[in-house]
Amino acid sequence: MGTVLGATTLLLTKGAGASAPGAVVLERATMHILLTDILICPVCGPGHGLILLADRIVDRRVEAGALGCPNCRRQYPVTDGFAELRVDPARPVVAQLAASPASEEEAVRLAALMGVTRGPGYVVIVGEGARPGAHIAAMIPELQVIACSPEAAAWPDAPGVNRMAADVRLPFFDSTIRAVALTGGTEAVFMAEAIRVLAPGCRLVLDRAPGDASDALAGAGMRVLARQKDTIVAAKG
Ligand SMILES: [Zn+2]
Repeated sequence: MGTVLGATTLLLTKGAGASAPGAVVLERATMHILLTDILICPVCGPGHGLILLADRIVDRRVEAGALGCPNCRRQYPVTDGFAELRVDPARPVVAQLAASPASEEEAVRLAALMGVTRGPGYVVIVGEGARPGAHIAAMIPELQVIACSPEAAAWPDAPGVNRMAADVRLPFFDSTIRAVALTGGTEAVFMAEAIRVLAPGCRLVLDRAPGDASDALAGAGMRVLARQKDTIVAAKG
C-alpha cells in the first residue's frame, strides 16, 4: 500500500479481497481516478487538495472510499462512485422515480452551449441539467463530465461521467475546468465559484440566468457571448 498517484493522490488499498471484482463490477463506470487531481477541500478552499483514500478501485475508477483533507482532516465519502462533497449534506437523497431520462436533444443543446468539442478535459454541469451528462460524455471523445447534483447519487453509472454533490464551493482548483453549466436554480449560488474554476477563455452557461446576471458577469470579467431567453453563455477573460 502507499502507491502515490499524481501530485495529490495517495492510494491506500485496503484488503486484497476488495480489489478482486466480479464481472458485473468490471462493467461499472464511476468516479475517474484522474479527477482526484483537481479536487480541493470545500471547507479549506483552493489551497488545499484532497487525498484519495480508496477502498475499491476498478478500471482506474473509484467505487468506494473517501476524499480526505490533510489540513482540516475532514473526510468526504465516495459511495458507489458518488462523491459527497457537501459540507453539510442534506437528508439522504431519494431517487426521483418520476423523472424522465435525459434526451439526446438536451445533450446536444448543452454541449453546443458549453462549446467543448473534444477532450481531454473536464466539464462541470451543476443541478438537474446534469442529467444528459452521459450523452455528452458519449458524444465527445475523452471528455470527463462532472455531474454535480445531490440527485446524481441515484443516477446510473455511465462511462465518462463523475457524480458528486457540492454546496458551499465547487470543489476544484482554480482554472482547471473547460466549461461550467449552472442549471435548475443553482445559477446565482455557484456563479462566482464557476468563474473561479473555469480555465481562461472557457465558457460559463447559465441555464436560467438571474435578472442581474449580465452586470454580475461583466463585473467578474466575463464576456457575454450569447443570450437567448433566460439562457446566457459567457466566456472567461
Ligand atoms: Zn479541509
